Amino acid sequence: MKIMQNCHLCLATVRQISRLQPTIFTRYLSTANPDIQHADVVISGGGMVGAAMACALGHESLLQNKKIVLLEAAPKKKFTLTENYGNRTCTLSPGSIALFEKCGVWSEIENMRCQRVLRMQVWESCSNSLITFNQEDMSDELAYIAENDIILEAITRRLDTVQDHIDVMYGTRAEEISIPGVDTELESNAWVEVKLNNGTTLKTKLLIGSDGMNSAVRKAANVHTVSFNYDQKAVVAVLKLDETDNNVAWQRFLPTGPIAMLPMSDTAISLIWTTSPEHAKELLALSDESFVDAVNDAFFHDRDQNDTAGRVSDVFQNILRNVVPGGTSVRQLPPVITGVQPGSRGGFPLGLTHASNYVRHRVALIGDAAHRFHPLAGQGVNLGFGDVTKLSEVITRAASEGSDLGSLTYLKEYETSRQRKVIPVMATVDGLQRLYSTDMTPVVMLRSLGLQATNAIKPLKDLIMKRAST
Ligand SMILES: Cc1cc2nc3c(=O)[nH]c(=O)nc-3n(C[C@H](O)[C@H](O)[C@H](O)COP(=O)(O)OP(=O)(O)OC[C@H]3O[C@@H](n4cnc5c(N)ncnc54)[C@H](O)[C@@H]3O)c2cc1C
Repeated sequence: MKIMQNCHLCLATVRQISRLQPTIFTRYLSTANPDIQHADVVISGGGMVGAAMACALGHESLLQNKKIVLLEAAPKKKFTLTENYGNRTCTLSPGSIALFEKCGVWSEIENMRCQRVLRMQVWESCSNSLITFNQEDMSDELAYIAENDIILEAITRRLDTVQDHIDVMYGTRAEEISIPGVDTELESNAWVEVKLNNGTTLKTKLLIGSDGMNSAVRKAANVHTVSFNYDQKAVVAVLKLDETDNNVAWQRFLPTGPIAMLPMSDTAISLIWTTSPEHAKELLALSDESFVDAVNDAFFHDRDQNDTAGRVSDVFQNILRNVVPGGTSVRQLPPVITGVQPGSRGGFPLGLTHASNYVRHRVALIGDAAHRFHPLAGQGVNLGFGDVTKLSEVITRAASEGSDLGSLTYLKEYETSRQRKVIPVMATVDGLQRLYSTDMTPVVMLRSLGLQATNAIKPLKDLIMKRAST
């Protein structure tokens, strides 16, 4: 991989390359002005989604002769695997794992660290209703939990060692973006221009915006967004426990927001506790011992129990037990937390942003640049990896048909396919977040019956699992 860190290509080297590969040279670089370079695809933003995009395109044999540049504003991270765990994790769905397997990233993750999830239990503090998920064969996993740092490191290793035709420019920010015809929506032959903080201008047929929730690419493309804050914060931490069979993901809905524990190893757990900003501040200020007590209390207390909803829910549960064989689940108790990894606590504000369009002529948005929402279903980055899978398929087809990689004809297919998938997930997650944010008796009663019925109807549960796994 050529790492170009805040520097221009030396002209002498460029001339040398041009003697060796004259056709490639003329396609890639402008001889007239070394400050202007050409690329077939520029990906702006090298977080998990942008880096995966570069890796997926780099893997396609039909794109081997294309110039692909990945820009990342932050310097290259030095990663060392230690016994300390990162406090940001992802629940990787089978769809994301399939993408990683295809690009050779999955074996890198497995060689470092990840944990299988065999069962999920979701319940609430206001009633006794619960829902559980597991595969038919209890030894098959539902998903994997991996640290964000490990996912990014695995993709970076792959880009470094195998895909040396992808240019990754660390410490390089896209500062000014000019998109021809963005206001007229006319397809233009002119290329997109990206001015970098090192003075270079990149001209490209296709600019992919993977630059996160405040995407500069999205703004330059004049894409409208629906956006709001949840007035909630997610407190994250790495928790310790004494158990060894740690392969269940736990989520309990409290009126203040959901609290989730995800297995990271036999004795480590990733905590994501959504709560009010004031409560989050208090939790972050507690001593380690008091914090552990607060987490155990949040999973075990019965202060929120609603007697009326509880009685109705118990009657319904008895009916289900008789009418639908196997329609009720055994409640498992979550593990008792014994410690917290020092310095692992952190807080993140939560919000929803959805781009009304994911594409313009010569522009595509992926990951949080296109959609960002509540982490309660652990779907955010999985949808981003789904964007990567679909967009690389569409770009590869454009290349195989000898077409313009930035043509709306192809990009629109990406947008339609992804919005069909993303919008229902976002709406469901947002609806669940609102449904569980109240302790009003009629609402508690209705949601408790709904949850039990969903748990009892196997085809419905299978459908939820299928939807979550793509
Ligand atoms: C507490 C919490 C828990 C979560 N848990 C889960 C989970 O379990 N499962 C899940 O699927 N999702 C989860 N998510 C969501 C997930 O973390 C995000 O969806 C994901 O990180 C988005 O990745 P991204 O690459 O799109 O954006 P980012 O991670 O925001 O990456 C954007 C990158 O672009 C770079 N950049 C920005 N501007 C420029 C520029 N002008 N030029 C060059 N580079 C630029 C930035 O430096 C950054 O590296 C969670 C989110 C939160 C807050």
